[in-house]
Amino acid sequence: FFNLTLCRELGLLQRRNQSSSVPKKTVGSNQIFSYLIVIDFESTCWREKNNYNQEIIEFPAVLLNTRTGEIDSEFHNYVQPQEHPVLSEFCTELTGITQIQVEAGIPLHICLSQFNRWLQTLQHTMGVVFPNEQRNTSAPSATENMCTFLTWSDWDLGVCLQYECKRKQLHKPDVLNSWIDLRSTYRLFYSRKPKGLNGALQDLGIQFSGREHSGLDDSRNTARLAARMMSDGCVMRITRSLQSVSVRPTVTEGFLLKL
Ligand code: AMP
Ligand code: MG
Ligand code: MG
Repeated sequence: FFNLTLCRELGLLQRRNQSSSVPKKTVGSNQIFSYLIVIDFESTCWREKNNYNQEIIEFPAVLLNTRTGEIDSEFHNYVQPQEHPVLSEFCTELTGITQIQVEAGIPLHICLSQFNRWLQTLQHTMGVVFPNEQRNTSAPSATENMCTFLTWSDWDLGVCLQYECKRKQLHKPDVLNSWIDLRSTYRLFYSRKPKGLNGALQDLGIQFSGREHSGLDDSRNTARLAARMMSDGCVMRITRSLQSVSVRPTVTEGFLLKL
């Protein structure tokens, strides 16, 4: 109740315009973000002991163009787990990811640096910019396209990557400190609690395409769901921000420093 009220007060969500019967030509002409990067990690897991030092084994990201609803670019890597290098049978069954695939994968710190390079390429070739990112100019120019991250639930960026980077003392890219949780956005926008990502798609008459619990297929299907929600009138807004250490002091920090 508190979150719902808070979200409404902060204007984090906008109800769909049910009175509008005019079909929209584009998916999201009224969106804040020109692009959304959809991420869905797969991690080590066990039938019984879950949530215990899970490590990322698949790192996919798809760039969703909010104007067209199309995926314009993709990043994908299998990642070698190091704390528990041997996948459980349960994990392979759930995700379809094999021991051979993770052994041919790369360690997380290499994957993160390749991911950073992919983001830089998007910045240079497509003018992608992230909110709160340090830039030379303060106001976004006409060639800049605002972008943020989107995941199904807060688990991927708020739990999985966050804790693995902490444990391994890896530098997490600062841009991954805020994102849109599509699950809570869906709940508030349609006023119903979906049964997983697949259930959320089914409720809208969309069939899940590919293999469930494959990180890349999950990411693509999450992107399809987000595109559908935007064409239904949902304006995507950041729902979660983690505290990041800022190089540039904020007004409050500057004030505290003076004290
Ligand atoms: P998902 O994006 O739903 O495929 O889930 C991401 C990760 O959460 C998986 O790679 C697993 O590590 C874990 N997970 C998801 N569903 C289950 C489950 N039913 N039992 C145990 N772990 C799960
Ligand atoms: Mg997931
Ligand atoms: Mg998944």
